[in-house]
Amino acid sequence: MKGSPRYVILGASLAGGTAATTLRKEGFDGGIVLVGAEPDRPYERPPLSKEYLRRESPRDDVFLNSPEYYREQEIELRLGQRAVRLDAAAKRVVLDSGDEVPYDKLLISTGTLPRDLQAPGVGLDGVFYLRTLRQSDALGEALLKRPRVLVIGAGFIGSEVAASARSLGCEVTMLEVAPVPLIRALGEQLGAVYADFHREQGVDVRTGVGIAEFRGAGRLEAAVTTSGDTIPCDVAVIGVGVAPATAFLEGSGVALENGVLTDELCRASMPDVFAAGDVANWWHPTWQERLRLEHYDNAVNQGTAAAKSMLGEGEPYAPIPYFWSDQYDLNLQYRGHASRWDEIVLRGEPAEHSFSAFYLLGGRLRACLSVNRFQDQEAAERLIAAGTPVDGRRLADETVDVGQLAEP
Ligand SMILES: Cc1cc2nc3c(=O)[nH]c(=O)nc-3n(C[C@H](O)[C@H](O)[C@H](O)COP(=O)(O)OP(=O)(O)OC[C@H]3O[C@@H](n4cnc5c(N)ncnc54)[C@H](O)[C@@H]3O)c2cc1C
Repeated sequence: MKGSPRYVILGASLAGGTAATTLRKEGFDGGIVLVGAEPDRPYERPPLSKEYLRRESPRDDVFLNSPEYYREQEIELRLGQRAVRLDAAAKRVVLDSGDEVPYDKLLISTGTLPRDLQAPGVGLDGVFYLRTLRQSDALGEALLKRPRVLVIGAGFIGSEVAASARSLGCEVTMLEVAPVPLIRALGEQLGAVYADFHREQGVDVRTGVGIAEFRGAGRLEAAVTTSGDTIPCDVAVIGVGVAPATAFLEGSGVALENGVLTDELCRASMPDVFAAGDVANWWHPTWQERLRLEHYDNAVNQGTAAAKSMLGEGEPYAPIPYFWSDQYDLNLQYRGHASRWDEIVLRGEPAEHSFSAFYLLGGRLRACLSVNRFQDQEAAERLIAAGTPVDGRRLADETVDVGQLAEP
């Protein structure tokens, strides 16, 4: 068994699993220990609210690698074990079993955990969260009975669950405290477009309203909203956001602020400690700002970048972020990152389910969202990377090739 030096990875999921694979691909010959709180080996979460939830794809498809892979590569999996404390001075991690795991280098890739909803009755049978494979197993099983579904929170997880449940023929109500779905990622204008998409499919979308209480005798029977309406339902799915999984790092000396703070080489504030994926709040060297992303692509790319950094081969991590979401027959792709904008330019027609939205700040493109319209994405990426001024009227004009606007 390979032993020294020993690299320990906390969080056996996408970023952590990718980092372990990268270490071996790059020729690392020391010990790799992958510690994961879940009982399952690393897997991908996107199918859990989409095809896997709808039972359209087999369970085996979600895993990153086979069990044999980890054996062959001598990657030690310590699954179902949670890190509860980091002693960065002594360079060891304490697990909930009481075991202490020493490390030469440590990667924190513990991702995020769903925020709890505080409401009476939240513990009733039929009330679900969706983050893990096992939760998707249980929710998928419940959806087979075509229950009446209440989705609480119209972020991406809630919206995708609503779409999947509706596609399976369930009656679906979706509650959102904000004025429109997806407001944090897309803003009010595009969030309103998504509200329309869900309503077209027959989802009862109610905005500006939250949940006051779940009711039922042992099992969920109804929910009461903050506006006093009672909604009969058999299944409720809570998707009210996530928070970085960093509780075990309190007092460790690792600087925390909305996740683990890292530099552009994925290095945290303590020696030989790195972070990647949803948990990392890193410094984007080109944009000169901190970002913490909750996207698949980032977990893979930053997991790879962190592994190289651990090997001393790191390069500044400065991607143009990318994510996607599938709801009904609408494939959304988003490149860039716009936390602020002063103009959104539309190209194509939302009503025709094929359009792009360009988010501009100070006349420069910060992000591009495309729905069923991939042809604009590559050029948009070049425009975002160039950071040069772009004419909004020409972006909107379908007779103008976006690719040409991106020519130097
Ligand atoms: C249902 C669903 C659908 C999604 N769909 C999309 C999509 O369509 N497109 C997209 O771009 N992104 C999507 N995402 C987001 C994407 O899956 C995440 O960005 C990605 O999983 C992040 O990977 P990660 O490895 O950083 O963290 P995670 O996947 O959260 O993994 C972290 C792991 O660390 C473990 N852990 C936590 N604390 C500890 C501890 N103290 N000790 C040991 N282990 C610990 C957790 O149990 C978990 O297994 C989706 C997410 C979900 C939940």
